[in-house]
Amino acid sequence: MVIGAGIVGASSAWHLASRGLSVMVVEKEVAPAMGSTGKSAAGVRVQFTTEANVRLSMHSLAVYREFEQKHGHRIGYQDIGYLLLVPHERWDRHLESVALQRSLGAPVDVLDTEEAQRYVDFNAEGLAGATFGPWDGVIDPHLATHAWVAMGKQLGVAYRFATPVTRIAPRASGWEVRSGDEVFHCAHVVNAAGAWSGGVASLAGLELQVGPKRIQIFLSAPIDDTRTYPLTIDLATGVYLRSEGERVLFGLDDLEQEYGFTEGVEEQWLEHVLLTGVDRFPWWEDLGIDRKGSWWGYYGVSPDNSPIIGFNPRAQAWIDACGFSGHGIMHAPATGLAVSELVADGEARTVDVSAFRHGRFSEGVAVEANIF
Ligand SMILES: Cc1cc2nc3c(=O)[nH]c(=O)nc-3n(C[C@H](O)[C@H](O)[C@H](O)COP(=O)(O)OP(=O)(O)OC[C@H]3O[C@@H](n4cnc5c(N)ncnc54)[C@H](O)[C@@H]3O)c2cc1C
Repeated sequence: MVIGAGIVGASSAWHLASRGLSVMVVEKEVAPAMGSTGKSAAGVRVQFTTEANVRLSMHSLAVYREFEQKHGHRIGYQDIGYLLLVPHERWDRHLESVALQRSLGAPVDVLDTEEAQRYVDFNAEGLAGATFGPWDGVIDPHLATHAWVAMGKQLGVAYRFATPVTRIAPRASGWEVRSGDEVFHCAHVVNAAGAWSGGVASLAGLELQVGPKRIQIFLSAPIDDTRTYPLTIDLATGVYLRSEGERVLFGLDDLEQEYGFTEGVEEQWLEHVLLTGVDRFPWWEDLGIDRKGSWWGYYGVSPDNSPIIGFNPRAQAWIDACGFSGHGIMHAPATGLAVSELVADGEARTVDVSAFRHGRFSEGVAVEANIF
C-alpha cells in the first residue's frame, strides 16, 4: 500500500505495478496532486552538489525528457534551464560541483556574468560567474502525477481518494491500515505522505525526522521583456525567479523557520523577498505584483533538507519516501523506481539511495549545499 497520491506516491505506485505487484494507493484528498505537488515551482535540475543527488537527477531528468514519447502522456517538460548566479566566496566549491555533474554526464555551462546577462538582467556585484544547465527546466507536476495515476490504473493500481489513513498496526505478515471504519491489509507500507509523513509514521508508532515548513511563492504582473527567464537563483541571497508566461514567479525559501502547518501568504515575507532581491535584480523596483496569483504550500523537510528513502530500520516492510524539501518533483521518477526495487528485490539497484538512509543524520554523510 502506498500512502499519498502526490507525485512520489503516483510514481512509486506505477513502478511497483510495473514489477507485477498488486498496489493500492490511499489518499486523504479527493484527487491526486493536491498536497505539495500541486503547489510547487515545478523546477527540475541536475545542478546539485552531492553525487547521490546528481545521480537521482540524471535518472529522473532522462525519464522526464522522454516521457511523452515513451508513454504518450504530456507532462509539460520545458528545458528553460536553471541559471545559478554564484558569489566569489562560493565559486571554487561551485566549480567542483560542476566537475562532478559533468563527470556524471550532466551538461552544465560555465558563464561569465556578461554572458549570463543574455538570459536575464541582473547586477553582477559580488558575483564570480554563473552556471547554466541546458537540460534543467520545468515540468507540469499535475500532468506528470495524473499521467502516473492513469498508467498505474492501466496496470491495476487501485486508487482510493478521500481516504485518510487514521490508524496503522503491524500484523504477522505486513500491516493493517485503517481509514475510519475501513480496514485494509497489505504486505508493505510505502509512506509517501510528503510533509505529513512524520504524522503518518507516528500512526504506526514510528519516529520519522520529517516535518512541514511553509513555503511562499509570488507572482508579478505581466512584464515587457519577451525573453523566457530560466529558473534563476542568486546563490548570495537565495532569491529566485523564472518566467511564468508573461509574468515572473519569484520567492525565497525560509528554511530556518520552525516546523509547523502555518497557512497563508504573508505580506511581510513578500516585502522581505523584494527587499532582498532588488539589489541583484534592480528592475524589481518597477515590478507590479499579482497578489491573487501568489500562493503557498509545504516542504516536507528532514534535518539536512535531503530526502529519506529506504526501509524504516524500526519496522518490518515499511518504506519511507519523503522529506524532499524543494526537490520532490525533480526526484520522483528515480524515487519511484527505487521504491519498487526495495519492495521487489529488497534493495535499490538502479539508483543508489543509500545516501538517503534513515540513520545518516548522526553519521556525517555529505550534505547537499544547493538547497533551494
Ligand atoms: C512552494 C513550493 C515550491 C516547490 N518547488 C519545487 C520545485 O521547483 N521543484 C521540485 O522538485 N520540488 C518543489 N517543491 C517540492 C515538491 O512540491 C515536493 O517535494 C513534492 O511535491 C513532494 O511530493 P510528494 O508526493 O512526496 O508529497 P505531496 O504532493 O504532498 O503528496 C503527499 C500526499 O499524501 C497525502 N496524505 C497526507 N497524509 C495522509 C493520510 N493520513 N492519509 C492519506 N493520505 C495522506 C496528502 O494529502 C498528499 O496528497 C516545492 C514545494 C513547494 C511547497
